[in-house]
Amino acid sequence: MKKDDCIFCKIANGEIPARTVYEDDKFRAVLDLGPATDGHTLILPKEHADNLFDLPEEYAKELIPVAQKIGSMMKAGLKCDGMNLVQNNGQVAGQTVMHFHLHLIPRYENDGQRIGWKVGERTDEEFDAIRKRIVG
Ligand code: AMP
Ligand code: ZN
Repeated sequence: MKKDDCIFCKIANGEIPARTVYEDDKFRAVLDLGPATDGHTLILPKEHADNLFDLPEEYAKELIPVAQKIGSMMKAGLKCDGMNLVQNNGQVAGQTVMHFHLHLIPRYENDGQRIGWKVGERTDEEFDAIRKRIVG
């Protein structure tokens, strides 16, 4: 289902023009308007999902093959040296547009970008307790 007030629904379904680099029946990939590097691309499902957790399975299972296809086109065309796939869920995780999207960020030697996190430390006991919270 499309969501009326969602800008990425409109872009994904061609109602707002965007620089499309790939389209099929389920996804549209467009250049990000605030690119981290040259070629920064967003893969958008044509159906609305707020985030990864409500992305329908039929989309989820096609996402990585589509990312592989688009990523290969980008590698060939842009001659990038590497690529980050980034996907934010929830405001606290940096999501600013509440329609699922996967970032494909080409990386170039000395591109000056920084994508990452502060490396943490935990004791063995802390790791065990955390693992238990996940697996039950
Ligand atoms: P996120 O922070 O993961 O929600 O990423 C949202 C991304 O959408 C940002 O990188 C923005 O630059 C990008 N963005 C926002 N509006 C548009 C738009 N109309 N067309 C293309 N990219 C957009
Ligand atoms: Zn949407």
